[in-house]
This record gives sequence, structure tokens and C-alpha cells, in this order.
Amino acid sequence: MVTPRLDWHLECSACARTRPADGLATVCDCGQPWLVRYDGRRPGPAGEAESRWREGMWRFRAFLPLCQGEEPVTLGEGDTPLLRIDRTGRRLGFGNLWLKDEGTNPTGSFKARGLSAAVTRAVAAGAARFVVPTAGNAGVAAAAYAARAGASARIYAPRTTPAAILAQIVTFGGELIVLDGHIGDCGKAARNFAAESGATDLSTLREPYRIEGKKTLGLEIAARMGWRLPDAIIYPTGGGTGLIGMWKVFRELLEAGWVEGPLPRMYCVQSDGCAPVVRAFERGQDHCDPWPEPWTIASGLRVPGPLGDRLILRALHASGGAAIAVSDEQITRVAREVSAEEGIDLSPEGGAAIAAAIVGRERGWLRPDESIVAFNTGAGWLYRNPADLLQS
Ligand SMILES: *Cc1c(COP(=O)(O)O)cnc(C)c1O
Repeated sequence: MVTPRLDWHLECSACARTRPADGLATVCDCGQPWLVRYDGRRPGPAGEAESRWREGMWRFRAFLPLCQGEEPVTLGEGDTPLLRIDRTGRRLGFGNLWLKDEGTNPTGSFKARGLSAAVTRAVAAGAARFVVPTAGNAGVAAAAYAARAGASARIYAPRTTPAAILAQIVTFGGELIVLDGHIGDCGKAARNFAAESGATDLSTLREPYRIEGKKTLGLEIAARMGWRLPDAIIYPTGGGTGLIGMWKVFRELLEAGWVEGPLPRMYCVQSDGCAPVVRAFERGQDHCDPWPEPWTIASGLRVPGPLGDRLILRALHASGGAAIAVSDEQITRVAREVSAEEGIDLSPEGGAAIAAAIVGRERGWLRPDESIVAFNTGAGWLYRNPADLLQS
């Protein structure tokens, strides 16, 4: 196999050590995640079509880890709708409220973006076998992108994962292992399996490229808004990849001159049944303490001890944002209301984002005239049991 020349390197997010990007990187010796730094790339002017990829997230390849002439492992992820939700906005007292509907991605969630990038780089480095712990949607995406690359994937998921999500993992040929416990327990099992089998671990921030894929959330918002940025972004946060990725790319866009400041204030939302970032933010800590006995119906948010805690908290502070906890009862009610009101299939995580907008408005953090982008990170149907819905 000819190794393509990589025009980027890796830099530790904590101790600033660097290393070449060749091979399969995990985390720095200090235990913290690597970040991708591009060497002397000069993206052309904003909006210029730079590649033959006209559709999907890979059209932004000037900001992505892809070599000259290289083809990514893709299922057409990205280019999801950024929808104004005026009816909901008016009801809640906002004049400029938007929802980015990530449920329309292949595999039903924005995990497609990160896994497309991670699997692309891992396969280029010779990986043929993957493992991932998941609260649900990452497992679906890992199974699908592994299949797309002609590789195999073992997926560790909690027994409490919604049945439709588990079924999708199996549908895409994933080797599903269901465990009692939460994603932290699945993570340990995945790391053991990786150590004994040589499988490549795709866990959040244990490889550097899922962040790069998630950067395209920010690129698409900026492109859609004519290379301007909204005032605030509300992001349902589990491992934090998307929040970290968007904050990274906003700074890369500033540096490239594609946008001007100020950058959006970043708001993280979690369920009050698992809110390690919110608690750390409120206590003024620079890291999270693991949340004991995490539980929420928003399974993507059930991450008791995120590895990217320092990066998440740094982005909240640097952007002038905040962290907001909402209850599962609010999450469920708001997801149901907005789905019926706007015709968008909100996942519980999407419900959490709009519920957080209500809280932010009450606290005076979000003003009625501001442009606000909330995320529906996954498709609601993946969480539902149709029989329950039709009975009640
Ligand atoms: C994984 C997931 C999240 C959390 O995303 P992170 O980038 O890990 O914080 C939110 N919503 C859904 C639907 C998810 O699948």
C-alpha cells in the first residue's frame, strides 16, 4: 500500500507535545486527546468550491484530514437541513431560532460525520477491525462505516440502549455485545478487547479524527448563514466531540479569514440524571468528576466521565457560553411538542437542546433577538417503541 503524504500532525490538547500523524494514534502519553494541526494549509477564499466533492461534509476538505486525491469512506453524511423553527420560536419568545436536523444523516445521527472521518483515516493506516463502546448511535455509525470500508466492527452497548438502535447495529453487520452498565463500563470492555485482539478503538477522543468529522457541523452552519456565525449554539453534550470540533473549526475559520468574530457562545446541555459538565462548570472546575449512577432517556448524553472534559469546559469559558441541565421530563415533553409543532423528528437529545433554550431565555443568557442554533443530534424514531406510542 502506498502511504499518502499527510499534511498535518498531531498536537496534545494538554501538554502540547507533538507527533507525526502516520499510523494509528490513540491518546498522548499524558492521557489527554490529540488534536489535528494542519501544516501550512491555506484554504482559498470562503465559499470557493475546492474539490470535486460537491455534496456532503467532505466538500470542506480544505479543513479535513484527507490527502490529495484520496477518497474518503463515505455514505453521503452531512449537508443536513438547518431549519428556522419560527412556530416554536414564537411560542418560546425567540425571533431567530434554528434547528440543525442531524437525524437526516446516514445511520440516523451526527455520529456519521465523526465515524466517516475516523474510519477513513484508520483504514488508510491499515486497520481492518474496529471496536467501539457506545451509548447507541456511535455503534450504529461504526458498524455502517466499517461495513462500507470492508472491515469488521465489534460494538459494546449498555443493555438499556433503545431496541431500534441495537437492531440497526446488527443490520449493518456489527458484532453486538450487550452489557449491564453504562458507556464507561463498555469502554473498559472495548479497551480490553482492543488490547488482546489488535482491533482499532474508535472511542470518543481516543483517536483524533472523530473531532475533525464533527467540525463540519460548524462549517455547514457558517456556509448556510453566508459565512456569518450565529450568536449562540446549543449542543446536547455527551462526550463533547461536536462541541469541541465546532469550537476548533470556528477558530480555524477565523484564521483562514472565512469568518469574522465574535464567535458564537457555546452552550452545553445535559440531563440532570447525568450532568458532569454542568456540575463542573457551576463549580468553576477545569475538569469533570465522574457522575455516579448516570441515567437519562437521552442515551447519547449518558456519559458519566467524558475524556474531553477539559476541552469542553475550555470551549464554554472561552466562548462566553455556559452549561445547562434539564430534566428527563422536560426533555420528553419538549421533544414531543416540537416534533408535532414543526414536523421534525426530534430525538430526546434534540428535545434537551430546545429545553435548554427555554432555560437560557429565563436566565437572560439568550435574548429574543439573537440568532440561536440548537441541534437535533439524532432521529427520534430510533428511541421509540411504536406500540407504546399508538396505545397512549
Ligand atoms: C452521541 C450523541 C450525543 C452526544 O454527542 P457528543 O459529541 O459525544 O457530545 C448527542 N446526541 C446524540 C443523538 C448522540 O448520539
